[in-house]
Amino acid sequence: MSERGDVTDIASDREAEIRDDALAKIARKAEEQASHESAHECRICDEPIPEDRRVAVPGVQTCVDCQADIEQALAMRGL
Ligand SMILES: [Zn+2]
Repeated sequence: MSERGDVTDIASDREAEIRDDALAKIARKAEEQASHESAHECRICDEPIPEDRRVAVPGVQTCVDCQADIEQALAMRGL
């Protein structure tokens, strides 16, 4: 455990926090829009959302990968 390692850890913790905040905001927005139409592209990474997923998850706003990230971020916050 070097001092340099600690500095790097703090920096990456902070980045993760900022990222989690952004994800939580997007997740909240996605929930508000849940009654709306399914998105054609993921709101986070802009990848196309497969038609199967758009039909299976009405009002879906994110791809499977980003949804997993959001759920993980929310779970870590105890939401
Ligand atoms: Zn995505």
